[in-house]
Amino acid sequence: MSLQAKSVVNALLMEAGEQKVQMVYNARIREVEFGKKYKIVCDGKSYYGTHLVIATGGRSYSDSGSSGDGYELARSFGHHLVDTYPSIVQLRTNWPYNKSLKGLKVNAAGILRLSEQDGGKVLREESGEVLFTDYGLSGPVVSNSAPWWNPICLRGGI
Ligand SMILES: Cc1cc2nc3c(=O)[nH]c(=O)nc-3n(C[C@H](O)[C@H](O)[C@H](O)COP(=O)(O)OP(=O)(O)OC[C@H]3O[C@@H](n4cnc5c(N)ncnc54)[C@H](O)[C@@H]3O)c2cc1C
Repeated sequence: MSLQAKSVVNALLMEAGEQKVQMVYNARIREVEFGKKYKIVCDGKSYYGTHLVIATGGRSYSDSGSSGDGYELARSFGHHLVDTYPSIVQLRTNWPYNKSLKGLKVNAAGILRLSEQDGGKVLREESGEVLFTDYGLSGPVVSNSAPWWNPICLRGGI
């Protein structure tokens, strides 16, 4: 085992070569239609196949070419999608003491709990490093628990 990600790519390319798979590069998939076969519509050209794997990435970093097209393509032929949220992100706060604590790093236990009027349930407990920044909080405790607090923030709950 090489422990190199490239080895996986090489193995796939080798098998694809043996199976005489046609590779198409630098083509943006615009549309997918599903009839007897999948019809994949690129810029000015169509391709057909019996199976389709969507591997277009997420939408967190559109400069890499992954702008979330895959979600719309999957939705266009009937897949149900769950809501997506940014994860592994920092927390912006409007606390007045952000600037004075900026740069401070502490080991802490973070508990994410709903407010009393929302039932007070503990959603997540995380311990490790918390970093105070001039805009709020960062560090593993904050970013690791982001998938729990971020959906609530985006719904206006925190
Ligand atoms: C800033 C940043 C840092 C990261 N750091 C790490 C790290 O240190 N370690 C780690 O393990 N992970 C890291 N990740 C996560 C990692 O990059 C992703 O989990 C991984 O790249 C996802 O692979 P993927 O093949 O699913 O999608 P991607 O790598 O996004 O590949 C999808 C491909 O599909 C193509 N595509 C999209 N739409 C279409 C279309 N309509 N037609 C044709 N092609 C299309 C895109 O151009 C792209 O080439 C990081 C991510 C970000 C944004």
